[in-house]
This record gives sequence, C-alpha cells and structure tokens, in this order.
Amino acid sequence: MAAAAAKLKGGRLCSICNDRRPALKRPKTLEQICRECFYAVFEDEIHNVIVENQLFKPGERIAIGASGGKDSTVLAYVLSELNRRHNYGLDLFLLSVDEGITGYRDDSLETVKRNEIQYGLPLKVVSYKELYGWTMDEIVKLIGLKNNCTFCGVFRRQALDRGAALLKVDKLVTGHNADDIAETVLLNILRGDIARLSRCTSITTGEDGPIPRCKPFKYTYEKEIVIYPFCWLDYFSTECIYSPNAYRGFAREFIKDLERMRPRAILDIIKSGEDFRISASTKMPEQGNCERCGYISSQKWCKACVLLEGLNRGLPKLGIGRSRGLNNEQNKDMKQTDGTKSMQSKQCGTLDF
Ligand code: SF4
Repeated sequence: MAAAAAKLKGGRLCSICNDRRPALKRPKTLEQICRECFYAVFEDEIHNVIVENQLFKPGERIAIGASGGKDSTVLAYVLSELNRRHNYGLDLFLLSVDEGITGYRDDSLETVKRNEIQYGLPLKVVSYKELYGWTMDEIVKLIGLKNNCTFCGVFRRQALDRGAALLKVDKLVTGHNADDIAETVLLNILRGDIARLSRCTSITTGEDGPIPRCKPFKYTYEKEIVIYPFCWLDYFSTECIYSPNAYRGFAREFIKDLERMRPRAILDIIKSGEDFRISASTKMPEQGNCERCGYISSQKWCKACVLLEGLNRGLPKLGIGRSRGLNNEQNKDMKQTDGTKSMQSKQCGTLDF
C-alpha cells in the first residue's frame, strides 16, 4: 500500500526493488535503498566473496576472531546466518584474546560471552597472562605508553594462532574490513614495508602455515558494518584505554576524507594494492621457525620471544625497533624484523595482517 501510494504520489522508491520507500543512502554506492534490500545486498555481497574466493570447504572447522567489537560481532552473526542459509557445512567457533586490560577487554569479553549464547557458537578465550605470564596492564606499568601496542600486537597474533590450534580449526577468520585494508595499503607504502605490502590485500594469508587466515569483509565498508545491525546486535564500542596510534589515525582520517569525496576510493586503493608487483630483485625475509618456541619467524627467535625475553630480563626495550634486540645480539647480519613486525591489531580497531 505504502509503495503504491508512493508510486502514485511520484515519491522516490528504493533503487533496488523499486517498490518500498528508501530508508538509507548506501555508503558504498550512494544508492537510495530500503532496509530490506540493504540487508539482502550486504549479506549477498559477503556470500559472493566467500564463494568466488573459495574461502571454505564443507566440513571445515572455522574460528572467528571475536573481540566483542562491531566488526567481529557482525562477522560472527552474518557467517552463522550464511552457513545456515547456504549450507556451507562449517563448524563455527568464537576465539577471543584476553590481553589483560582492565576496564576495556574485561568489559568487551562480557559481550563475547553473551554472543556465545545468542549465536550458539562455542567460545574459547586465551589470555596473555596464561600464554606469556604478563598482562598488558603489567606491561604498561613497566614500559609506559610508548611501545605498548608493539607488545600487544605481536602477542595477539601468536595468541590467536595458539587459540586456533587448541580449537583444532582449519582456518581463522577476522573482521578486517575494506577500510582497514585500504588503510594498511597506505601505511605499508608510507613505511616502505614491501613484505607486508605484497600480502596485505590477500583475502587469505598464511596458507603455507598451520592455520590460514581469511577476511570475508575484504570488500565490506566500515560504514555499512556500522549501520547493518541498526540496534539489534549486541556489541562493545569503547576504545582501548592504551590506544595512542597517531600515525594509523592519520591514515584512517585520510581514507575517510577520500571516501567522503568519492566512496569508490576505498575499493580503488585495495585494487592498487592488489596490483602492486614486487621487483624480483627486492630481498624478502625468508620464513623459518623460531628456535625457541617453534612459531613462524624469519629470524632465530620470533618477535614474541624477543619481546618476552626483554620483559623477563627487565630490559623491555630489547625487542623494540629494527636496530636493537636479541636477534641483533645473536645474529648481527640479520637486519630485517620477522614476519610479526609490530603493528597494532584489528581487535582494538587497528590491525595486524
Ligand atoms: Fe593492545 Fe590495541 Fe590497546 Fe594497543 S590499542 S594496547 S594494540 S588493545
């Protein structure tokens, strides 16, 4: 009736179904569409990305990196819906990392625990305290607020892998969205980080390692993830109390400015990142295994072991930066950092991939 009345009055109609009144302007395309078509197109695009990139095989066990924030909460919800609707045949799990940040992670973990019940997905929580013997609160007390995210990002990457191994999953999926990926392309260019630039747009990484990681939201805009739940999904939206990160914040603002002028800019930056070709003469770090813990590393010791050794010896700056640290003490001609070079992580709104 409403649609017929709108048609009769010559009012604007949803540009997809051409039947209902539009409820929003779609951030990715600026189309005026109704709420029902927005849900459908948002979910269908993610399904198409999953199918076209063959992200999963029937029967696989999949861990969803879950922080309680909007991206991972929407990912958990949408993936369980698509799994049911399209019979992917996946066993889904939630995997969370407790960094030990009072007033931030303890609260967001409560959200994940509610999600466990709401979506019926088993939850595994791994903590820095049990894996490394340190919480982020203790680390910040020792090192202050300057390099805290270096420790946190490196430890989290390993913690997710260790949690995924405990769950015996085949793959780990994360909620990195299109804005995150465009931001990381820019940051890797600004930092001259060729190794990361060459892989940061890959939808699946770590295929040669024990547990590959996938990003089903690779082409999903952050603004659409924000409006997708409207008000019915339960997620946590406070920033980490230790978040500094001015450099990444600058890249983020720049991307948002570009998006305001031209929404396609995000997809175009990702496309540019995908099309970069690394010259054959560029020396890339060779992957091996940490002699201490066995984790993937291009140096004798992985970054987490170096950082941990520094903490335990009361020399927390040992593993910080490119020119200092245990690996330099032990192996002076290895200059590049390992594959886990410090970057902040997606779980706090920034990322590491
Ligand atoms: Fe860790 Fe992120 Fe907080 Fe930094 S901002 S301490 S990486 S949770």
